[in-house]
Amino acid sequence: MTVDVRIAVGLAITALGLAFVAWRALFLFRLVASGQPAPGRFTDVGAQLKAELMDVFGQRKLLKRPGPGLAHFFTFWGFIVLFLTIIEAYGDLFSPTFGITGWPGLGFIEDFFAVAVLLALGTFTTIRIRQNPARRDRRSRFYGSHTRAAWFTLLMIFGVIATLLLYRGAQVVTGNFPYGKSWWPFASRALGAALMGLGKGAALNVETAMILGQILVIWGFFVFVLNSKHMHIFVSEPNVLFSRRPKALGPLGTTPDLDPEKMTEDTVFGTGLIGHLTWKQRLDLISCTECGRCQDQCPAWATDKPLSPKLVIMDLREHLFESASGLLAGQPMLPKPNEVPVAVGAAAEGAGASGGANGADAPAGKSLVPNVIAEDVLWSCTTCGACVEQCPVDIEHVDTIVDMRRYQVLIEAQFPSEANLMLRNVENRGDPWGLGSSQRSAWMEGLDFDIPVVDSTIPDDVEYLFWVGCAGALDERARRTTQAIARLLHQAGISFAVLGPRESCTGDPARRLGNEYLFQMQAQQNIETLQSAQVKKIVASCPHCFNSIAREYPALGGNFEVYHHTQLLEKLLEAGSLRPQVRLEQKVTYHDPCYLGRHNEVYDEPRGVLNHVPGVQLQEMHRCRNKGFCCGAGGSRMWLEEKIGTRINVNRTDEALGTGADVISTACPYCLIMLDDATKSRQAEGSAPESVRVMDVAQVLEQSLVAVGPGGGAAPTAGRSGQAGSTDQAEGDSGGAETGEVPET
Ligand code: SF4
Ligand code: SF4
Repeated sequence: MTVDVRIAVGLAITALGLAFVAWRALFLFRLVASGQPAPGRFTDVGAQLKAELMDVFGQRKLLKRPGPGLAHFFTFWGFIVLFLTIIEAYGDLFSPTFGITGWPGLGFIEDFFAVAVLLALGTFTTIRIRQNPARRDRRSRFYGSHTRAAWFTLLMIFGVIATLLLYRGAQVVTGNFPYGKSWWPFASRALGAALMGLGKGAALNVETAMILGQILVIWGFFVFVLNSKHMHIFVSEPNVLFSRRPKALGPLGTTPDLDPEKMTEDTVFGTGLIGHLTWKQRLDLISCTECGRCQDQCPAWATDKPLSPKLVIMDLREHLFESASGLLAGQPMLPKPNEVPVAVGAAAEGAGASGGANGADAPAGKSLVPNVIAEDVLWSCTTCGACVEQCPVDIEHVDTIVDMRRYQVLIEAQFPSEANLMLRNVENRGDPWGLGSSQRSAWMEGLDFDIPVVDSTIPDDVEYLFWVGCAGALDERARRTTQAIARLLHQAGISFAVLGPRESCTGDPARRLGNEYLFQMQAQQNIETLQSAQVKKIVASCPHCFNSIAREYPALGGNFEVYHHTQLLEKLLEAGSLRPQVRLEQKVTYHDPCYLGRHNEVYDEPRGVLNHVPGVQLQEMHRCRNKGFCCGAGGSRMWLEEKIGTRINVNRTDEALGTGADVISTACPYCLIMLDDATKSRQAEGSAPESVRVMDVAQVLEQSLVAVGPGGGAAPTAGRSGQAGSTDQAEGDSGGAETGEVPET
């Protein structure tokens, strides 16, 4: 083939490839850019660039699994470095001896990455062959992924490297190799030696064919990638760049102003149609690699529920592409003028309301729930954040799931009926059980010291406001923790006060369920109370309260210095204000509450408290710290029945019992209730030792300071149902709780 023909063929392939790539890239850009606004994506450029460096260029998250992580690392960097060889291939079209430089060091780097990518391909192939038989098994992280496309991609990457090494090997024979006789480009040299028998004429044909072959494979690869799930190769970089910082898992966004006076017909409440997704959520969808790391860690999926965060993203992505022509043609995708939130002014009614404003046949597109995402999928999420934490491309699943819940609650009034009582209790009585403010101080009975109750402003000599939380004030088991914390703070000489009857639910359960209106009502009320009391520093015992006040109230104007009790206790232990002395000689395992650990990265302090207790042997569970497994109560699941699959709290408790621990410790009242329930059920079955106890780390610590009894005064057992005096789940939405009657104890 003459040089002219070689150039013509090479440029023709390039022009065709470029045209397809540009057309597809423009389509994807328009599809993403036409999404709803996503405020706050450009506010912390330093953190965004740092994440890009660490997670994209450093492959930080992927390297947590060393085998596939290293393979990904070398493939990613191989793509960048081997871009130089593509330039060289184009140069060779025009001048057969072209090289960016004749420096053998560059030849070595190129060959090194070519071989590294081949080894990485071997690793991916081995992983996929091993996982393939299990592909239809729910336990495989590739369950539901498009594995055929993955095989084809591996084949194409192999094609890129094979043509590269072959044309360089042939160049060694023809004398066109730009790195002279040096053996630094070791792979090309070795291949050249193997091809030496061809003779110069045949080698020249191989060289030409492989250069054109490489150009063809590269453009074919680009076109294929942009039309498959492998488009993540190009779109995951901006997705990481624009994810929430400092980490993708964080405070939920506030919906538009919920003041009815300020609503317009364009106001969107949550996500009900594909057109409601923000541009960042659309970018999330097309960035998914289908690696299944999220699915692998999801407690709902692990307990045989229908929810897989990966499949949620894949199903939404499929629907996004199905709807693309309509979206790009500007079809109306916003709520119609009559779509006012049904929950404004009252907690929304539960399931039973029939037919939403955007039915499946609505011209604006089909409703996401249940047409794209089944109801059982949507309501199975505990918002534990394991999916976001694991996702190598920083997809924010929790935000999208809660946005869909918001639409279901605020617009469609479709949600599990058993949550209705909890919402009404929070709205009318200020706590999920409906016990009312009069019961909020009962936990203090039995303490042998007084705690100031703030009725106007917090006294100058009081440092902390102790935010007790609904469970801490009203549930019998959680009250024991509250009392232990109070005694420990008192013993350490910390001055603190409580709001008593002025404290109200932070709104967390309503928010995770999707009732943003009720959350904002509660939040505004609490912020006003705290500001009018001139509170500056808060210590909270419930991670959900801690997360709401510290991370979510600032968006509504509430800025306070908030500590979790384990953070404060650890500080007091370090300072010597608390000196545990009694040896406990107990094996203790610690369960990370999701809203303390993953959501707020408080991992060390609770363990620090336990490590200060003499005799305690801390035994970690396999799933711990950022890989901790949810107790099943988050995402307002505490208030919903768990009818599908196995119970999450039992799954977690079995793991804790498997450590042989004497004590299962935690730092959240809801985790405590869930784990305690599961432990008791295992003990009743005879499959767990009677001696195992579930305790907050504060209670473990207190045992080492003083000999304590079973706790303070008698208290009602609030349970999980929203019905006072019951530990069972709600049978319906009627009952005495709404009356706020305090049950006899
Ligand atoms: S937040 Fe937790 S429960 Fe929800 S999808 Fe993610 S991993 Fe699953
Ligand atoms: S971890 Fe992220 S990239 Fe992987 S399947 Fe889940 S959503 Fe997709």
